[in-house]
Amino acid sequence: MEKKISIIIPVYNEASNIQPMLDALERFVPVNYRVELIYVDDGSTDNTLEMVRHIFFRNQQVHYISFSRNFGHQNALKAGMDKATGDCVITLDGDLQHPPELIPVMLSKWEEGYDVVYTRRREDKRLPFSKRYTSKRFYGIMQYMSGLNIEPGIADYRLIDRQVVDILVQFREPDPFLRGIIKWMGFKQYAIDYNAHERLSGVTKYSTKKMLKFALQGITSFSVRPLYLSIILGSISTILSLIYIPYVIWHACMGYAVPGWASTIITIMFFGGLQMLLLGIIGIYIGKIFIQTKRRPEYIIRTTNMEK
Ligand code: UDP
Ligand code: MG
Repeated sequence: MEKKISIIIPVYNEASNIQPMLDALERFVPVNYRVELIYVDDGSTDNTLEMVRHIFFRNQQVHYISFSRNFGHQNALKAGMDKATGDCVITLDGDLQHPPELIPVMLSKWEEGYDVVYTRRREDKRLPFSKRYTSKRFYGIMQYMSGLNIEPGIADYRLIDRQVVDILVQFREPDPFLRGIIKWMGFKQYAIDYNAHERLSGVTKYSTKKMLKFALQGITSFSVRPLYLSIILGSISTILSLIYIPYVIWHACMGYAVPGWASTIITIMFFGGLQMLLLGIIGIYIGKIFIQTKRRPEYIIRTTNMEK
């Protein structure tokens, strides 16, 4: 019996990339598997859904799931996995930045017995130094804060075995951070390195704001370590003020009093800022509890041609 693979492609305003992506898949997906191709339209405002509705993969209509609005990349991947029926699931971006030529390699590693085959993008030497530096720092902080070894360049281009998918779909977290969750789950994992292509057409859907939000989500959904930051910073400021207070008293005793307005203001501003920062961190966690207690669905489907 031929094995079946599910390929999940989240698309958000990618109309011009649908056909090229399909051609690439026709070329690189091995023919000795049954293939279930699932496009997840994440509330596109262009004609992405129309395009998806009318394409065929190896003479079969492709599957689609269309959201009622934009729910984000991670939720789109989750929706695809919820519906997938293959013996393994492969997720990749719809802009050809995840080279489909790796699919046969991933499949052979899976056949060897690995449960998760993930990919790591090699450092792009064409990017400016500042960009590469900040990206490295980001992963460093991320690793420390989340306590997980999330390697630089790791992306949502991976193969997951059915056994792992079955567990994953039971996770119900708003804004799942799949990179972290899958790493956290363990199993036998294998990494493949690749060089990134330029996006085929269109623009990136990840603005700096979205990236920052993603980073914060990633960190705060994985650990409470940032909360310890308040204890550390709080202790430092207490010690500093303990040193400062005797100085102030001495200052007053010597009759130098009135000047000192500046230092007062500086202290108020500094600690005011610190408190805001820490309240912000605590606020994010409380926000998460709030969202989670409502138990809303992670996404809403408007139309689909899939059952289950
Ligand atoms: N995407 C999505 N929903 C979003 C943002 C992006 O489904 O809200 C899709 C997008 O169509 C693409 C993939 O996720 O297939 C990765 O997005 P993008 O290429 O914009 O990110 P980048 O490669 O720049 O990190
Ligand atoms: Mg991209």
